[in-house]
Formats: sequence, structure tokens, C-alpha cells
Amino acid sequence: MTHGTKKKIMVVEDNPMNKILTKEILTVQGYEIIEASSGSDAIKRIAGDKPDLILMDLNLPEMDGITATKILKSNDVCKGIPIIALTASAMKGDEEKILAEGFDGYISKPIDMKQFVKDIASYIKKKAEGQP
Ligand code: MN
Repeated sequence: MTHGTKKKIMVVEDNPMNKILTKEILTVQGYEIIEASSGSDAIKRIAGDKPDLILMDLNLPEMDGITATKILKSNDVCKGIPIIALTASAMKGDEEKILAEGFDGYISKPIDMKQFVKDIASYIKKKAEGQP
């Protein structure tokens, strides 16, 4: 990574296998990974952890990813952090619905490793350039 500063990605995911896979892929790419196991856990930790990007599973215990995203986006401290939905639903029309809920992007599971890495790099770059 440039400037020796690792970009931080918060992975909000409850499935142990998905957690391990996502963390491994992104760590190899040079990102610092922060793990949260639920929407409420993500909200609790957001101010202290200040991630550059959030990957949000939709089906989560305690609080689902859509509710958590709405709360995060209504908070001045973290509304500028891009939140990308990570979800198994890949039916036609889902992406539009998900973006309408306030997410900045959408990645469908199961993830394609190469495409996933490209997508994450592109979201991080957009954030660094200050694009919405
Ligand atoms: Mn889940």
C-alpha cells in the first residue's frame, strides 16, 4: 500500500466461514480488517475504529444489515464511510432495491475472489478521491 498506511475495512458478517474467507483475502491485499458480528456491534465500534469502508452482510443477528446501514448513514460521524452490501440475494432488481436502502454498492455472494478484490480496490479508491 502507498504511504505505508493500511486502509481499514470493517467486515460485518456473522457466518464463520465467510468471515475467515473475507478476512484472509483482504489481509493478503494489505488491508487492515476489523470484524463485527452484528449490526449493533458495528454501530458500537464505528466511532473508535473509523474504517475506510464497511462490508455489510444483510442477514445478521440482533440487527439486520439494512437497519444498521440506515443508522450509520444518519450519523454525522460515519455517514461518509461507504457501505457495501454483501448478500446472497442475487435476483434481478435486488441491486436497485439495495442501493435505494442507502448502500453505496453491492457485492453478491458467493464472492468471485478476483472480482471481489477489484471491486474493493475500486471502492477504496473512490473514497480516497472523495467521490460519493
Ligand atoms: Mn449472515
